Amino acid sequence: MDKIEHIGIAVKDLEKSNQLFASLFGAPHYKIEEVVSEGVKTSFFKSGPNKIELLQATNPESSIAKFIEKKSEGIHHIAFLVQDIFAEIVRLKKEGFVVLNETPKKGADNKLVVFLHPKTTNGVLIELCQEIHISQKI
Ligand code: ZN
Repeated sequence: MDKIEHIGIAVKDLEKSNQLFASLFGAPHYKIEEVVSEGVKTSFFKSGPNKIELLQATNPESSIAKFIEKKSEGIHHIAFLVQDIFAEIVRLKKEGFVVLNETPKKGADNKLVVFLHPKTTNGVLIELCQEIHISQKI
């Protein structure tokens, strides 16, 4: 794994949180993106070299809605950048990690993503993400 790509924070009200984090970082979000298949609306902030993703549920079945119901707002996942997500899935499964979606799916920010089950990662939801290259068909 290369580096932490971003930290995902679950929020109830994206508009309010966008203002809050803009005040915190002294700069507004640089993009908003809805991932319809995941039932989330996301916004992205930069703080120096670091990236923060805010996630708000767009329907009650969304994993973000369930997270907030159970745990309230807060850090939802940590995302690591990988070069070859398919190779990482094979490697991590061999190591005994439970991959939540065996086939990488298209997430926000032009990435292929998979999640590792928190029960195998000390309670932390880990996202692996890889840039989608133009030549790749999903
Ligand atoms: Zn993420």
